[in-house]
Amino acid sequence: MPSPPARAAALEPDSLPASAPTASAPPQALAKPPPKSAPQKAMEKLGLRRDIDLALHLPLRYEDETRITPISALRDGDSAQAEGVVSACEVQVRARRQLIVHVNDDGDELILRFLHFYPSQQKALAVGNRVRVRGEVRGGFFGLEMVHPACKVVTEATPLAAALTPVYPTSAQLPQLYLRKAVAAGLKRADLRELLPLDVLPAGMMSLRDALTFLHQPAPSVGMETLEDHSHPAWQRLKFDELLAQQLSQLQAKRERELQRAPKLVVDRDGLQDRLLAVLPFGLTEAQRRVGEEIAADLQRPIPMHRLLQGDVGSGKTVVAALAAAIAINAGWQCALMAPTELLAEQHLRKLVGWLAPLGITVAWLTGSRKGKARKEMLAQVASGEAALVVGTHAVIQDQVQFARLGLAIIDEQHRFGVQQRLALREKLAAQQHDGAPLEPHTLMMSATPIPRTLAMTLFADLDVSTIDELPPGRTPVVTKLFADGKREQVIARIRDEVSQGRQVYWVCPLIEESETLDLQNATATHQHLCDALPGQMVGLLHGRMPSAEKAAVMALFEGGQIGVLVSTTVIEVGVDVPNASLMVIEHAERFGLSQLHQLRGRVGRGAVASVCVLLYSAPLSPTGKARLKAMLETTDGFEIARRDLEIRGPGEFLGARQSGAPLLRFADLALDEALVHLARQAAERLLDRHPQTALAHVARWLGTRSDYLKA
Ligand code: ADP
Ligand code: MG
Repeated sequence: MPSPPARAAALEPDSLPASAPTASAPPQALAKPPPKSAPQKAMEKLGLRRDIDLALHLPLRYEDETRITPISALRDGDSAQAEGVVSACEVQVRARRQLIVHVNDDGDELILRFLHFYPSQQKALAVGNRVRVRGEVRGGFFGLEMVHPACKVVTEATPLAAALTPVYPTSAQLPQLYLRKAVAAGLKRADLRELLPLDVLPAGMMSLRDALTFLHQPAPSVGMETLEDHSHPAWQRLKFDELLAQQLSQLQAKRERELQRAPKLVVDRDGLQDRLLAVLPFGLTEAQRRVGEEIAADLQRPIPMHRLLQGDVGSGKTVVAALAAAIAINAGWQCALMAPTELLAEQHLRKLVGWLAPLGITVAWLTGSRKGKARKEMLAQVASGEAALVVGTHAVIQDQVQFARLGLAIIDEQHRFGVQQRLALREKLAAQQHDGAPLEPHTLMMSATPIPRTLAMTLFADLDVSTIDELPPGRTPVVTKLFADGKREQVIARIRDEVSQGRQVYWVCPLIEESETLDLQNATATHQHLCDALPGQMVGLLHGRMPSAEKAAVMALFEGGQIGVLVSTTVIEVGVDVPNASLMVIEHAERFGLSQLHQLRGRVGRGAVASVCVLLYSAPLSPTGKARLKAMLETTDGFEIARRDLEIRGPGEFLGARQSGAPLLRFADLALDEALVHLARQAAERLLDRHPQTALAHVARWLGTRSDYLKA
């Protein structure tokens, strides 16, 4: 009789905790698995499929049922277990109907109060029964009491629990007791052999089996705090293993990539790159030059580049991208540049066409809104290779788009593309045959949100990072001011001043999540109000629902200076570049994320004039809202903003879509476990070098089928 596959073991009926044993199961049981029960489905939903998944499902907290506190020693506020004999049990109607039970122990009395109760409970709590109760103690009007304690009827001989009782993260369909039994069974069956050889495991680490056994059933003597703050050595082992799995899969991805082949894009002296440098209206900053060299060095290798270019808003990433494109084109390859929104893509297009068209380069433009004949022509140019540079949104990677010779893909704000889009992108960029050899294009990702160091070392360990840490010269730092919403008229007076001096102003309205319509109403109302308040001034309106052509027309008028004040929803968040704009007003600033606020603020302060960013807020502020605005007032440094953002939101949120496929770090806390990250990193390199099979086994144990998401 074939045994069921190991990974499904936890779901086989005969291995279910509470179900009847089926030692001599009838043969037809094999024919068709019985339908899954609600708790089974709930377990699957929680990702509890394999025994090891159950063994790694760790308690959120514990309850102490290992001891009994005498009633005389109970104090208001304690969470405790007590025991005694019921001396009275009656339903009373005070403010409402309730069950009041008196429990006595050596002449001391504890009152139990139930606002909801079943007849069966009432019966169990009959006078004369000995009961063991557990709950919060509070000082009530009639003495110490517990409201809705957990109760069970016992005898004097009923033993106490030998270990702390684990409380597991669960869901509505999955009763704690069921899960507890499933985990205990999974833990017993799971293969917990030590995988890590001595030359990899840091000295003094607990074995995985000991750590897990301990965490599921800790001895009562252990300090509850070290369990709850995860500082206990057993937790350290778990976190180390988790970080190791994560480092391994990243290193693995990196090494796999290094085995692939990419076109060698050799830099020519006096080639297109030099000609572009010669026509730029400015010289590069030191930082731009440095990152440009890092990229050029990658492009000349026959291995696909996988590099992140990070630099604060306004630090000048576009020109670095253009220089990289020039290298690829000069070497006879095509370059694709993608941006997450049409507006942003269009900004790039305009810059790049302005720089490269005079040098004889054909640029194609591909977005979702481009249809019909124009689109056909573009596709033909891309397929024939006539278009050396292709700019657009994710439409660039759609199926119908065939490149003749794609050598370099540049992705702006790549974290804003969804997981699915990024996976599609990876597929599109997979190796294609060129002159008989499979070649994969180089990729350059760009981001204005710098990755804090611990994140860079963990979730982004497979990336090479180049950083522009310097702004172009001649910028005056933006001054940030906070105004309560009631002071709006003062802000409008300020706008009047600004436009009368020939400067320009952005007014950004928030996205109202629930309703795009409300959103629009809000922006439209503000637009109307500003039109009325600023007679003779052209006030523009820009929002996500407008047709692209209209958006582009408004932007052109703002860029040309005809529109003095631009009211918009967050569509201007990235990429808009109008150096004459000197005032940014952000309405309901408390509703924006920190990095979003920072990006918006980066739209001003691009010229030599002193610029101001006004954050309008409505009270009351939530604690995180307050923390965000405070960060905005205190710093303009993008790295510091990113650090605070991570602190406020935690890595899951911070990473947004990258994480949405799988919560990759369940146990380790990147803010606290930096030392473990370093250890795991070293161990991962050693393990991959010396014991590659073990490395695979470790990753499989921890990540199972989730490891694919790591690559998105
Ligand atoms: P971001 O990094 O936010 O994408 P951009 O590439 O849009 O920044 O650059 C912001 C502005 O700075 C643009 O107007 C760009 O032309 C200008 N710029 C870029 N590099 C320099 C430089 N070295 N000197 C002066 N201005 C520059
Ligand atoms: Mg940019």
